Amino acid sequence: MIGAGGLGCPAALYLAAAGVGRLTLADGDTVDLTNLQRQILYRTDSVGAVKVEAARASLNSVNPDVVVVPLQERLEDFSQLVEQADVVLDCSDNFATRHALNRACVKHRKPLVSGAAIRLEAQLMVFDLRNPAAACYACLFPEDAQVEEVQCSTMGVLAPLTGMVGSAQALETLKIIIGIGASAPSRIQNIDAKSSEWRSARVPRDPACGVCSTTLTK
Ligand SMILES: [Zn+2]
Repeated sequence: MIGAGGLGCPAALYLAAAGVGRLTLADGDTVDLTNLQRQILYRTDSVGAVKVEAARASLNSVNPDVVVVPLQERLEDFSQLVEQADVVLDCSDNFATRHALNRACVKHRKPLVSGAAIRLEAQLMVFDLRNPAAACYACLFPEDAQVEEVQCSTMGVLAPLTGMVGSAQALETLKIIIGIGASAPSRIQNIDAKSSEWRSARVPRDPACGVCSTTLTK
């Protein structure tokens, strides 16, 4: 799991409580008071602490049998980490990380469960890259696209929305681990919290994708 913030906290909590064997958490930040409405693994006395360490303590207090591996760093190369994982959760807040993580998941054909939330809008995406027909994150958001980077830390988000998406990421992850449920190999769910609308769509593979079309057909 990359990111132990608004999405990562609820996702990790459900995964640890469910008893996943080993959970690797990567995040370079420390806990800030302004995080607490959405980063539900932390308490007032966690302010200033290293996030992944505070997260480990919190997760192990729920389930001491889960092995939580804290990585206090903002990684740029995810290849080695992804190779060891069964499922990868993108709970990050920036496109550079999202794309680097996607590349590693395409390379090692690992399922990627990606979440995003800002203001009153959110997205939940599953790219089951074990399936050669699956689209990848870059099929949906090309790496060279001009995008405006907006983050919760500057733009804000209504906190329960990150809870919804993080929980849904845990749900999709458990389905992948257990091997239940049938879905398109790549799917996006768009949540418009303002109008309370939740839409789901298949993501078709882009044959011209600069990431998966070159890697997978090699
Ligand atoms: Zn692609």
